[in-house]
Amino acid sequence: MTTRDPLTGSLSPSERAEPLVLHELLDGGVVRIILNRPETRNAQNTDLLYALNDAFDHAARDDAVKVIVLAASGPHFSSGHDMRERGGDVERVNAAMLEHRTVGTWASFRQPGADGYMSREMEIYFGFCERWRNLPKPTIAQVHGKAIIGGLMLIWPCDLIVASEDATFLDNAVQMGIGSGEFFQHVFELGPRKAKELLFTAEPITAAEGYRLGMINHVVSRAELESFTLALARKIARYPAFALKLAKESVNASVDAQGRLQGMRTAFALHQLAHWHNHALYGRIVDPSYLTNTFGDKMKDENP
Ligand code: ZN
Repeated sequence: MTTRDPLTGSLSPSERAEPLVLHELLDGGVVRIILNRPETRNAQNTDLLYALNDAFDHAARDDAVKVIVLAASGPHFSSGHDMRERGGDVERVNAAMLEHRTVGTWASFRQPGADGYMSREMEIYFGFCERWRNLPKPTIAQVHGKAIIGGLMLIWPCDLIVASEDATFLDNAVQMGIGSGEFFQHVFELGPRKAKELLFTAEPITAAEGYRLGMINHVVSRAELESFTLALARKIARYPAFALKLAKESVNASVDAQGRLQGMRTAFALHQLAHWHNHALYGRIVDPSYLTNTFGDKMKDENP
């Protein structure tokens, strides 16, 4: 049995009273979308990603909305993709995707083997992130706590990033026998050398370092994070929506002219190669030693 979030229409597990994604229309032309699965540190399962996509769609269509803020509930922004779901609950994932009427180019997600898996990841990871990156309204990520791999894939598509001083950013895909996460924007966020260091070492970068590298617009205290982000959103929302859209499109087109999308598509193909390399060696899409050795404890809270 399932229930529906009344706003987004997204499926939620029946045992869950709260929607997976909250959607708050604030004054000043700002909407705040909040990841709301704090009990898993906002691990991204298929239902959450569709709920998030629905919330972005709703905000994009609403003429009262000028600027979209993406925030998260609980102690961390997001622990990334829900590894329990990726562990093999393919039928449930497929059922969720069917329920959401996924009928795009990548609708072969029900096929066995690499075809189905690549199609799923193209739809809910690469496809969603690229779609959110190109929404026709300014978006601001409001980040606190840890953001790990899939967490970066929600932050990086946003136009601006405001982070609290405690925020950290990590892509530890190499520990899992994969080159990177599915949405490969690393080089454009960090520059090539720091992108390599992030991936090679699988160690997090801090908010201060992210600011220095140009990945983050502002670093503020945790206490100020919400008010600062909201003030920035309202400042932007005073201006004409069409001009904001044109400014965004101009910057995005300039970045794409530098090869962002081509590099990303190559990295996505290599990501799929890694999944099936691991599958051939271990029968799983990630190197299972990741789950048993010490670096698997990626969400350990030094300061709970
Ligand atoms: Zn993957």
